[in-house]
Amino acid sequence: MIKPLEELISALSRLPGIGRRSAERIAFFLLTKPEEAARLGKAIEGLHSRIRRCRRCGNFAEGELCPICAGPGRDQATLCVVARPWEIEHIERTGEFRGLYHVLGGLLSPADGVGPEDLAIGSLLRRVREEGIQEVILALEPKVEGDLTAMHLLRLLKPLGVRVSQIAHGVPVGRDLESADEITLGRAIKGRIPL
Ligand SMILES: [Zn+2]
Repeated sequence: MIKPLEELISALSRLPGIGRRSAERIAFFLLTKPEEAARLGKAIEGLHSRIRRCRRCGNFAEGELCPICAGPGRDQATLCVVARPWEIEHIERTGEFRGLYHVLGGLLSPADGVGPEDLAIGSLLRRVREEGIQEVILALEPKVEGDLTAMHLLRLLKPLGVRVSQIAHGVPVGRDLESADEITLGRAIKGRIPL
């Protein structure tokens, strides 16, 4: 294998969900399609220079605010708390939620040394106090870390007089939000449980 091709294949096989065989197929495809290679190269190059984090909720954004925070027609009194920004996309696809989001940036995990100070909890409490939030929906993975984080947040949120609920996990334990299909996730949001 010549070096430029080997370098591309090895870079591709480090991506999630792509094994050596797929990496080879993609590399040979790009080699025969210069215009596709250029388009992909440009998209990857601009990824980190054009995308930043929304200063309000932590979602991915092109400007100061993400499209959800900046957009009209969202229920400004309901906040859905997620661990990671890509989980917002999964919830959006269900079409069952019209409120705003807050990205924690992870979950509490004493084993991995992730404590409350590592997550966007201070800004969450500030938003609840200052933005007139009436309900906070916790959409965290039904695993040890998710439950631990939910309990911690509940303790901090309750004294603020806000309604706190948790999405109903019709999702089998151990499966994350990402693998939950849209209908299941949609039902989980609709049938949320007050805490
Ligand atoms: Zn935002």
